[in-house]
Amino acid sequence: MALDSDEQKVIDEAPNQLMIGGEWRDASEGGKLAIEDPSTGETLCEVADGTPDDSKAAMDAACDAQADWATMPPNERSEILYKAFTAIGDQADDLAMLMTLEMGKSVTESKAELTYAAEFFRWFSGEALRLDGYYKNAGNGASRVLVMRQPIGPCYFITPWNFPNAMGTRKIGPALAAGCTMVVKPAQQTPLSMLALAKLLSECGLPDGVLNVITSKKSGDVSAPIISDDRLRKLSFTGSTEVGRGLIEQSAENILKVSMELGGNAPFLVFGDADLDDAIEGAMMAKMRNVGEACTSANRFHVHESLAEEFAEKLGKKMGAMKIGRGTDEGVEVGPLIDSDQRDKVAELVDDAVEKGATCVTGGSKVDGEGYFFEPTVLSGITDDARVLSEEIFGPVAPIATFRTDEEAIEAANRTEYGLVSYVYTSDLKRALRVCEALETGMIGLNQGMVSNAGAPFGGVKASGVGREGGNEGIMEYLETKYVAVNL
Ligand code: NAP
Repeated sequence: MALDSDEQKVIDEAPNQLMIGGEWRDASEGGKLAIEDPSTGETLCEVADGTPDDSKAAMDAACDAQADWATMPPNERSEILYKAFTAIGDQADDLAMLMTLEMGKSVTESKAELTYAAEFFRWFSGEALRLDGYYKNAGNGASRVLVMRQPIGPCYFITPWNFPNAMGTRKIGPALAAGCTMVVKPAQQTPLSMLALAKLLSECGLPDGVLNVITSKKSGDVSAPIISDDRLRKLSFTGSTEVGRGLIEQSAENILKVSMELGGNAPFLVFGDADLDDAIEGAMMAKMRNVGEACTSANRFHVHESLAEEFAEKLGKKMGAMKIGRGTDEGVEVGPLIDSDQRDKVAELVDDAVEKGATCVTGGSKVDGEGYFFEPTVLSGITDDARVLSEEIFGPVAPIATFRTDEEAIEAANRTEYGLVSYVYTSDLKRALRVCEALETGMIGLNQGMVSNAGAPFGGVKASGVGREGGNEGIMEYLETKYVAVNL
């Protein structure tokens, strides 16, 4: 299917080379990486397929720019971030179209991501002005304690395809505010949004070399020389737990400071005293944001047995009524999944659950025709051995299991190696707090189906990661604490 003229214009104007030291460059060996439209399976365009030599050049550029960027007055760093916040809003129509074309989500969802992405620039433009330290008397009264915070140094960021801009700005915002330079490697399926962001930041006055972007088909090969470079001080990764484990191992060699935003398996708990309509609204948000392709996506619903039937029926009606289609088409709510492998995995999990006894309340199948579409699906009567309860689905599938007691609900929620986020619906304050204390996740949505917020510390425990992005905590990932013992 041919792109319409607006879509073609956005693709034609999008940067497609590497950004190194403020210059747009082809890959050193001239290679190209094809970018596919997941709603048709057709190639949209090509971008540079970077090599290990390119990543070394990007690292050199980041290191060359580090000293000047670290000493640039915080006011000026803050102003660049604020300009970028505004510019994302001004360019949202084109940026959203670009994101939808390469990633598939609806334009409405792309715009929502851009709003979220921009918020990190607004938040960290403020944080740039609040870098602090302290000076105090030591306990013995004889010496003084002087504590200063300094930028950690050059960083390497690896981002996934599901939120092509926001997963970048969550790292880029605090790093810029703290005074760090960086190399960014976006996912090979969605590099266009990150390249467009690099252009936007440059237009907002970001000095050459502060942010460098490498795109490549060979993530491991281009990452290795950067991670093993002893000038690198920080690796921040968002992606799967499996890849994150390997990167932590590689980071051990140079004792790199790491942040890992990894996989999730979020439980959504609905207690017997919950407001059912609120819970359905929250479930729609927690499940269907990004068509379920989110680490924070509600992976499994544990509903008190007194409400389970009504919950399944209402959720099934809402999910079954969603409009499926190409993300750029008017009114579409459910775009395609990222690729055929992801769609096959979702189908396999649904088939496994049904074979083990679950019932399809709505959906359950791939959509025939071009593109990687899957029907919004609600499964009730899930058995404990269904894979869908323990594996990350990353698709529009809502499995519903039941519980009788609070203890059962908490035990089921914590029965996973992951610990990113959970959702709790109850109108009893004491129960809410007891359950929140017992849940083993870094974040909890209490009577709320979305937790993402630039001003809050985002991150997981257990196999969901290390470190926090956003909030007061976010900038600390990019600062070193230095203590001077002062003899008066
Ligand atoms: P992925 O396969 O781990 O890929 C993520 C990024 O890592 C991509 O840029 C990928 O590049 C790169 N990569 C893959 N192998 C690498 C290697 N050996 N060395 C260096 N880089 C490597 O994950 P994904 O499938 O794109 O993303 C989905 C996962 O991300 C899910 O598990 C989801 O839960 C998680 N996620 C977590 C958060 C969070 O904040 N906790 C947020 C969003 C997503 P290529 O594209 O070239 O493979």
